[in-house]
Amino acid sequence: MDKAFVSTLVGQIKNCKKCKLHKERNNAVPGFGSYDADVLFIGEGPGKNEDLQGKPFVGAAGRVLDEMLNSIGWSRDDVFITNVVKCRPPNNRDPLTEEVQTCWPYLEEQIRHIKPKLIVTLGRHSMARFLKGLKISDVHGKAKRGKGIWQEKQVFLPLYHPAATLYDPRKKETMLKDFSQIPLLLKKINA
Ligand code: URA
Ligand code: SF4
Repeated sequence: MDKAFVSTLVGQIKNCKKCKLHKERNNAVPGFGSYDADVLFIGEGPGKNEDLQGKPFVGAAGRVLDEMLNSIGWSRDDVFITNVVKCRPPNNRDPLTEEVQTCWPYLEEQIRHIKPKLIVTLGRHSMARFLKGLKISDVHGKAKRGKGIWQEKQVFLPLYHPAATLYDPRKKETMLKDFSQIPLLLKKINA
């Protein structure tokens, strides 16, 4: 990991004013985890708690994500977690296409640097950034190959957003099952 590169990138994100989401943020949320991780998790955008703490997935959805990681014997230190937009959309509205596009160079740099073997998208906004025209209800838990950023072909695993499981126990079961494939998928990619 190139520490100087990472701290420059984090500084750029923290001070970024490229889209109007900067106006209402308390903190930009660059991401958390290891820049040497094999697996990159990409959510939608910071919520209230994330905005206050400057860290991704620290609220209720984050607890679900931790539970999922623990279910395969991992913690958030073993992966990298970030979002398609680094600043909180007001009232947790969906990020606009133009906001996702404006913020994209940061995520692109993170991908180039982390070189993830597997990208796990959380929710449809994150999936849509990489895999076009798919329906999350059809493709969740099914690994897909798509165009890569740091390599020609990249393996993606689209998953439901952890928040979607909060009030729906069946979705949680589904997500746990989808999640359980990650270690084997990684083994296959490495083989
Ligand atoms: N939801 C997201 O998509 N990202 C976060 O960081 C927190 C909640
Ligand atoms: Fe900059 Fe991204 Fe924040 Fe917009 S969401 S201000 S592009 S860091």
